[in-house]
Amino acid sequence: MAKRPTRSQRHLRVIRALPALKRAIADCRARRCKIALVPTMGALHAGHLALVRAAQRRADRVIVSIFVNPTQFAPHEDLKTYPQTFAADIAALAALKADMVWAPGGGGGGGPATAGLEDAFRPHFFAGVATVVAKLLIQCEPDIAMFGEKDFQQLKVVTQLARDLDLKTRIVGAPIVREADGLALSSRNRYLSPAERAKAPALHRVLGECAIGIAAGKPIAAVLDQGRTAITAAGFALDYLEARHGETLAPIASPKAGPIRLLVAARLGSTRLIDNVAV
Ligand code: AMP
Repeated sequence: MAKRPTRSQRHLRVIRALPALKRAIADCRARRCKIALVPTMGALHAGHLALVRAAQRRADRVIVSIFVNPTQFAPHEDLKTYPQTFAADIAALAALKADMVWAPGGGGGGGPATAGLEDAFRPHFFAGVATVVAKLLIQCEPDIAMFGEKDFQQLKVVTQLARDLDLKTRIVGAPIVREADGLALSSRNRYLSPAERAKAPALHRVLGECAIGIAAGKPIAAVLDQGRTAITAAGFALDYLEARHGETLAPIASPKAGPIRLLVAARLGSTRLIDNVAV
């Protein structure tokens, strides 16, 4: 059996065609390597890189997919202007000693998917995500795949998808990476004007205040009402602020009914931000 080279001896391979991906994966399998997949849409930031590091701790080989998935953008959304920083992404992944970038060309592309959160505001979103994530998981056949808790509903949808399709990949969530002022890192933060950037941390601050209120036993509905008012007062157009069961995302009336996750989506100008915290 071929020997496994150590991480430092290897170079990042950028793969753009499925036959080459299949060969590279077969080679990993022949070496009995554990494979992790980190799906991204590029425009990589420290949140993505934390997922790659978490994947490296859990697997011998890490594949990062970079694919701006057209099917998860609604017609009015920012597909055409979504940031593309491929050269910088490759440089960052090479510096981290990731193993492979899977950059497919075009066409790569009940339960938590219809919880009335992201799906209510972006009705095309999860059908698009599910199709492409299923495709990436089938293409890469990873042992594990890492997803950020930043996109909490997406993490739950993908977990369910892997279960529904009997995929052998284990879906692993990783904590949200934040700026020093609490703003969750996002490729879309670069759209914020300086004035909007100054307002943006209010989203996380209000989530934290709501979590403290609920943990202290205040009624959930009243806490959320106050939170909605505070987010609007901070200059956001609110899409939703909800308290949900942390596993099923079903509405939840009391902390006794299970772990609570607070989830928010709100717009500052034309930039839509999402965030969530556990209570
Ligand atoms: P995207 O490129 O925006 O589709 O994100 C790719 C992956 O990175 C998803 O699993 C996201 O949840 C994750 N991610 C994005 N931002 C963050 C963050 N601030 N902290 C943790 N994970 C993140």
